[in-house]
Amino acid sequence: MLNTVKELVVNWHITEACNYKCDYCFAKWNRNDKDIIHSEWKIDALLRQIENIRHLLNQKSSTVLFETLRLNLVGGETFLYEKQLKTIINLSKKYGFKLSAITNGSLFNSNNIELIAQNFSSIGVSVDSLNEQTNLSIGRASKRNIFNPSNVLTAISQIKNINPNIEIKINTVVSKLNFSEDLSTFIKQIEPTKWKIFKLLPIYSSKLEILDEEFSKFIIQHSNFKCIISAENNDDMTESYLMIDPLGRFFQNGLDQGYHYSSPLHEISAEKALQQINFDCQKFITRYSRII
Ligand code: SF4
Repeated sequence: MLNTVKELVVNWHITEACNYKCDYCFAKWNRNDKDIIHSEWKIDALLRQIENIRHLLNQKSSTVLFETLRLNLVGGETFLYEKQLKTIINLSKKYGFKLSAITNGSLFNSNNIELIAQNFSSIGVSVDSLNEQTNLSIGRASKRNIFNPSNVLTAISQIKNINPNIEIKINTVVSKLNFSEDLSTFIKQIEPTKWKIFKLLPIYSSKLEILDEEFSKFIIQHSNFKCIISAENNDDMTESYLMIDPLGRFFQNGLDQGYHYSSPLHEISAEKALQQINFDCQKFITRYSRII
């Protein structure tokens, strides 16, 4: 029987650059070239291949039909390069993509608030802690400031004023430093449609790694929000996302530390690139079938 899924989500890490220095950050890729967001033709070629992924998966599946595609922009910090972001927005419209983004919430200003409200179907903010010292210890601080939850509340409220239909998401990474913290007040104020809670994935550093029991403690502490919580332990996160790095390559978590890569998608077809990372099309489709 053919089920219908509204959208296929492809995550593109548009840059490695970030003004924060989180200890657990996995936004680090082996590379010796510039992020492709600085080249319009490369962005265009990449987006064309991303659209091909949707057709490819539809051809291979008799159970799932991906009607639309949402390009989820991730970083580094997604709002560091406004000009390049505008190019991505314009080219995404050409391919009919929906857009969403994840940000660390430190660079909201009147320009990007307008841009987000008018062009994005959802915006996600990473919030691990409301405590200044904890944010400092995690590395959620730039040279100029420490993560400020009040600024995020204000920006989100301005975005919602312009676009009341936009979905607000919060992402939280649970580690040694915040597994006992209570974020309930903030979550109540921000009223997200989804709260994704991740157990710290030790890709490059295991310093803040936690036990399953500690992760569960955080989830239980926030059980009042269970209807919006989506909790992911390390197994859920492994090989279950379509992820593209700042050079336009698919990448996947390896069994050991670090990533496996395909060739850049602006150089070869999506089909060939997927074969290079041993992408299991059927497994991916089956996962989508389960979540319908
Ligand atoms: S905010 Fe995100 S991209 Fe920046 S250092 Fe932290 S985890 Fe990495």
